[in-house]
Amino acid sequence: MCDVCVMAAVKSKLQANNLSFSGAGNIPKSEILAASLLSAPICTLAQDISFSSIVDLTHTLTPDFPTFYGDPAFTETDDFTFARDNMNGKTVSYYEHVGTHFDAPLHFSPNGQSIDELPLDKLVCPLAVIDVRVQAEHDPDYRILPEDILRYEKMHGLIPERACVSALSGWSRYVYTERFRGEDSYGVHHFPGFHESTARFLISERQVYGIGIDTMSLDYGPTKDFSIHRTWLGSGRYGIESLTNLEHVPPAGATLIGGAPKFQGGTGGPGRVIAVY
Ligand SMILES: [Zn+2]
Repeated sequence: MCDVCVMAAVKSKLQANNLSFSGAGNIPKSEILAASLLSAPICTLAQDISFSSIVDLTHTLTPDFPTFYGDPAFTETDDFTFARDNMNGKTVSYYEHVGTHFDAPLHFSPNGQSIDELPLDKLVCPLAVIDVRVQAEHDPDYRILPEDILRYEKMHGLIPERACVSALSGWSRYVYTERFRGEDSYGVHHFPGFHESTARFLISERQVYGIGIDTMSLDYGPTKDFSIHRTWLGSGRYGIESLTNLEHVPPAGATLIGGAPKFQGGTGGPGRVIAVY
C-alpha cells in the first residue's frame, strides 16, 4: 500500500475511534500496521492517468463458462420477472474462481490478504501485455519464461513499478471450445501459463503485484502442484485469470482498472477488468 493509502487508512481508523490525526509521525507502528490492513477509501496515485480508449478485458459470465474441473460454476434464478412482478431481479450463485476473475493471496496461503483487502493502488496500475501467441500456438503447454519478459523489455522498456503483467496467449478465442480447457483422454489439461522462474523473477527483480492471463489458470494446464499459485499468491500478490481482448491493448502504456469484488474474506471472485490508454 502506498504511503498516502496508509495515511488515509490510519486517518479514517483514528477518526472512527474519535482520535486526532496530525501526521504519521505521531502514530505508533502498530496502528499503522493495523490500519494498512484496512482498505483505504481514497488512494492518490503518483501519476495522472489520461486516456481516449477503453477496452473490456472481461468475458461475459454465463452458466456455460468453462471451469477447471468441468462442473458448471455459475447459476442464476429469476426471483422477480417483469411480466409477473413489474420488476426484474435474480439470485445468482457462483464459485469464486469462475469467468474473468481475481485470485487473492488468501486463495493459496493460510492467512494472506482476502479479496476485500486488496489495496486500490494495486488494482489501478500500469498494464504490461506480454505477447506469447506464437509460442503458445506451437506448444499448448507453453510457460511464459523470464526470457519473454526480457524480450518485451528490450522493445517496450522496463516493466513499470506496480504493474500487472498479463500474458496474451491467444487462448481467450477458444473460450467455448474444448481447446480452452484442453483436457486430454488422461484428464490432463493443456493450456499456457506462467513458469515458476518467471514468478520468482517478477517477485525479486521487479516491483510487480499482479499477473494476469487469458487462460483459466496462472499455472499451465498439466500442473500437478499449482506452483505458480503457491509462489505468487503466497508472496502476497494477486492474479487475474480468463482475461480477454488483451490483443486490443498496446503492449505498454495502458492502465489496468481491476474491479475486484469486495466480499469479506473472499479468496477471489469474478470482476470487471478494464484497460484504458
Ligand atoms: Zn482463480
